[in-house]
Amino acid sequence: MGKKFETEILHGRKKSNSKITSKVTPIYQTSAFSFKDLDELEGFYHGNGQYLYSRVGNPNTDELGEAVARLEGAPAGIASSSGLSAILAGVLAVVKNGDHIIAADDLYGGSFHMLKEELNQFGIETSFVSFDNLAEVEKAIKDNTKLLYTESITNPLLRVEDIKGVVELAHKHQLNTLVDNTFATPYHCQPYSMGIDLVVHSATKYIGGHSDVTIGVLTGREDLVASARAKVVNLGTNVSPFEAWLTCRGLKTLALRMKAQSSNAKKLAEALLHNTFVEKVYYPFEQEKDGYGAMVTIELSKSVDINDFFRSLAWIKIAPTLAGVETTVSHPLTTSHRSLPPEACEALGITKEVVRISVGIEHADDIIVQFEQAIEKSL
Ligand SMILES: *Cc1c(COP(=O)(O)O)cnc(C)c1O
Repeated sequence: MGKKFETEILHGRKKSNSKITSKVTPIYQTSAFSFKDLDELEGFYHGNGQYLYSRVGNPNTDELGEAVARLEGAPAGIASSSGLSAILAGVLAVVKNGDHIIAADDLYGGSFHMLKEELNQFGIETSFVSFDNLAEVEKAIKDNTKLLYTESITNPLLRVEDIKGVVELAHKHQLNTLVDNTFATPYHCQPYSMGIDLVVHSATKYIGGHSDVTIGVLTGREDLVASARAKVVNLGTNVSPFEAWLTCRGLKTLALRMKAQSSNAKKLAEALLHNTFVEKVYYPFEQEKDGYGAMVTIELSKSVDINDFFRSLAWIKIAPTLAGVETTVSHPLTTSHRSLPPEACEALGITKEVVRISVGIEHADDIIVQFEQAIEKSL
């Protein structure tokens, strides 16, 4: 007997043809996976490589975690719903109620807020210390300290972390380490290979590279990533297969993008060094490379009207994000660092005049001209 209409709608499809061999991984946009019998289902729990339920695991999200782990030289990696959820999973893989974290005082604003306002309520205490001076970090270590947490290139002042120093200090005191490698990306820096335990990315930024996803990746030591995976599964901070797929696509051009964007950034930073109306240029010039990262932060002179400057940037958009292929600018004081107390911003040098530039893949000459003209127009 043929199927009735209502049944045919759902079950008329032929069984999948395994001879289809797509060149790229298809999008497994499915909430769950099916099994031919109970033996196969039982096999899942014994690690037969099958998938069960997309919150627990999905081929697209796994592909991304594994791909970034390979680039970081790490044995394991997982993707999650955002950079912050990857950080949360990484932190919770190491600390529990009653433990203490030492974090860099110039951490990304959202990470600072998570530690200070959210995790604090669960009995996880964080001291924010300048990692510029590791002797200060050592002084802050307490009996219950479990984790040192910093960024490989800090936001927005682009301080390059002394990762070797952090690793040495951590080993001396048997602490775990977590580095946010979002700004440097594995193209420039591989903290795991230098001895860091966990490396986290807001893949929303350079890993994805096209400003079309919100996603995070955590890589590192196998046991810690396994614990972090349990947090992602149990707290429900998994990412959708489609977003993981888009990010895998973006990742393919990471090297090309970082090379072009970093080189443009260095050229822009050099040009702005010579501009009379730019008080300070923050860029890791000391790294002997054709550009180390694609972020440039400047402090404009007080004779520049900051709002006129932003208005005069023509095709360069104001956007509270970074790392896309188009050049964008942001105002750290009123966006990424809004949740930092004013005194903290002041102490870090994040004033009203500070502008963060995410340099894209346009021609360097055009980018430089845009900034020079905008400064001139807003005097
Ligand atoms: C954007 C960012 C984050 C947060 O990532 P989301 O994907 O927005 O959750 C964390 N760290 C750094 C350095 C960032 O730039």
